[in-house]
Amino acid sequence: MTHPEESPASAPFSLDDSPIMRELADLTARRKVLDGVDLTFSGKTRVFTVSNQKGGVGKTTTTVNVAAALASVGARVLVIDLDPQGNASTALGVPHTADIPSVYDVLIDEFPLADIIQVSPESPNLLCAPSTIHLAGAEIELVSQVAREHRLKTALDDYLATHPEHLDFVLIDCPPSLGLLTINAFTAANELMIPIQCEYYALEGLSQLLGTVRMIQKHLNPTLHLSTILLTMYDGRTRLAQQVAEEVRQHFPAEVLKTVIPRSVRVSEAPSFGQTVIAYDGQSAGAVAYREAAVELARRAAAGPDTSEPEPTQAQASATESEGVS
Ligand code: ATP
Ligand code: MG
Repeated sequence: MTHPEESPASAPFSLDDSPIMRELADLTARRKVLDGVDLTFSGKTRVFTVSNQKGGVGKTTTTVNVAAALASVGARVLVIDLDPQGNASTALGVPHTADIPSVYDVLIDEFPLADIIQVSPESPNLLCAPSTIHLAGAEIELVSQVAREHRLKTALDDYLATHPEHLDFVLIDCPPSLGLLTINAFTAANELMIPIQCEYYALEGLSQLLGTVRMIQKHLNPTLHLSTILLTMYDGRTRLAQQVAEEVRQHFPAEVLKTVIPRSVRVSEAPSFGQTVIAYDGQSAGAVAYREAAVELARRAAAGPDTSEPEPTQAQASATESEGVS
């Protein structure tokens, strides 16, 4: 039996031992590591398609925040907004009303990409090829076009060949479908990044996505490969999120980034200010996680994942952004 004086209730309360203080201390340490990061880029342009035909899993959020995080460490990055919803263009603060030249004009009227690209107000290193509402009709209009699956690739290859300023990364934000817009992205890219929301049904539909990728590899683009899976909207307080994360890691041990993106109020608020979370609140837990994901991704060789990264920190493993820390 415990003596009353030894009972936990009578132990002196230390704020330093509270979960929130541990989380804060960990976040501070991770920010310091990020501030010391010095990246060099390969000189090659890595072209990612950010895809998952499931809706609302964090494709756009991942595209714009990884892009902004890469730009903040010196990379030149182009985001191609291939979703008629235009959410990536909004988050990058780029005008995309119906009268603005957009990816639609590139795909349907063969405009050069250079004619539609805008610089995000966030950084001179961060470019965006915006989407407008016209893109909603492109899926149907493309059906009757010549080389309908290659139109984005042709435009991007022309841009990369003729444009003097080198791009380190191109990130293509896809709509939640496996139609011709997404197939154009698969044909133009070398690497596939799949954001997976840590919720029930996370893996459902993934075999269909990977089946489509195999078809693309066989018939349209042999260089496309699944290089990166990013776990998003992770809430470490729930058993379900932990189970989903474990299951995804079991299936794809080499592809899943060690960094996980926590569910974060700041991340969801940022687009309403026309900003990425990197600009909106770069020191918040969500921004720190996206900056870590960008570093991890940049350090992986273009040919495949590098498995020699250090183990994740305790807070990453149980990543949950509490309101107090955001
Ligand atoms: P769609 O399939 O419609 O294109 P998507 O896969 O691009 O959706 P997002 O738009 O990035 O998904 O995210 C869906 C919603 O979840 C958005 O409201 C976004 O703000 C929110 N969200 C994304 N990531 C996070 C996060 N880490 N924390 C909190 N909210 C998030
Ligand atoms: Mg989206």
